[in-house]
Amino acid sequence: MRINVIKSSMPPFEEYVEAIKPLWESVWLTNMGVNHEKLAERLCEYLKVSNVSLFVNGHMALELVLQAMDLEGEVITTPFTFTSTTHAIVRNGLTPVFCDINPRDYTMDVSKIEELITDRTCAIVPVHVYGCLCDVEAIEAIAKKHNLKVIYDAAHAFGVEYKGRGVGTFGDASMFSFHATKVFHTIEGGAITTDDRELIYKLWKLKDFGIKDEEVVDGIGANAKMNEFCAVMGLCNLDHIDEEIAKREKVTGRYRQNLADVKGITILQPQKDVKPNHAYFPIVVDEKEFGAGRQTIYDRLRENDIYTRKYFYPLTSDMDCYRGRFDSSLTPVAKQIAERVLTLPMSAHLTEEDVDRICDIIKDCRGAIN
Ligand SMILES: *Cc1c(COP(=O)(O)O)cnc(C)c1O
Repeated sequence: MRINVIKSSMPPFEEYVEAIKPLWESVWLTNMGVNHEKLAERLCEYLKVSNVSLFVNGHMALELVLQAMDLEGEVITTPFTFTSTTHAIVRNGLTPVFCDINPRDYTMDVSKIEELITDRTCAIVPVHVYGCLCDVEAIEAIAKKHNLKVIYDAAHAFGVEYKGRGVGTFGDASMFSFHATKVFHTIEGGAITTDDRELIYKLWKLKDFGIKDEEVVDGIGANAKMNEFCAVMGLCNLDHIDEEIAKREKVTGRYRQNLADVKGITILQPQKDVKPNHAYFPIVVDEKEFGAGRQTIYDRLRENDIYTRKYFYPLTSDMDCYRGRFDSSLTPVAKQIAERVLTLPMSAHLTEEDVDRICDIIKDCRGAIN
């Protein structure tokens, strides 16, 4: 049976159908309906944040929060991410300046941020990649010292906590993605979390064309509202999110058992004081030590109907649309990890047998280059 890198979790069919029934009475299908409001409220509680602004997807949330902050100039960010992070910066007329990552958890190497700051730097956009927490304390100290905004791409980090604090409480704002492939989803969807009520008000307008009221449009907004069917999907999925994460935790545990002692394969280690969400299971393959490269593992698994992804390769700074604009040799760790990383299948649907089979195929690749 085919195993994809990701498989969305669905709520029980009857629960969803029951929950959308009232929409045939109210016929209030979008524009901040009752389910939209209820989901925002419940997410505040679950994510332990003070405000949630919902969006049609995570990308528009990030694009519009950068717009709402009226930023100008350079933004320090990571190239080891999904293409959305960099696009959101560039599409706002801002210039990304790429910071290298650390080889432990693949988040921004905070020791390399300050040397990138110029008098044009306005913000830092770090990514909690794979759900790994960035060094939020160091980033906060740097931002304070240089008067920079911090906007986290927390697309992977739904439900992650640090010392009991919701991940969305760090920085000036955080963006979450609720895409079907994420730990928690609303089919398509996203959110901004922030303590700043003024920012929430700006976002409320910007996601609705900049409309202030019936006769006043005072912002150049977009249309990025979450509809009621998506909000209901979110409410249903939220009822099962703890189960979802617990199932993923088991999968992580099984992968670790299988792969912890395999020479030449590096796996993510648990982070201190962090409650993880088990969003992804990346491995980094050292071809010499392991005796086979990433491509061999990718191909062998594929022959067995198991589909992995080279997340995140290429680096966003190396993508065709940015050709000639950035020099990825300035982020050598990111470049090396991108060339060696493979994201293994991860979802609540995977059984221990599935994981064992995947790991057996991986281990059988050893020696393929000799
Ligand atoms: C998924 C993702 C996004 C974009 O979210 P969408 O909801 O798909 O628009 C942004 N950044 C990262 C790191 C992501 O993985």
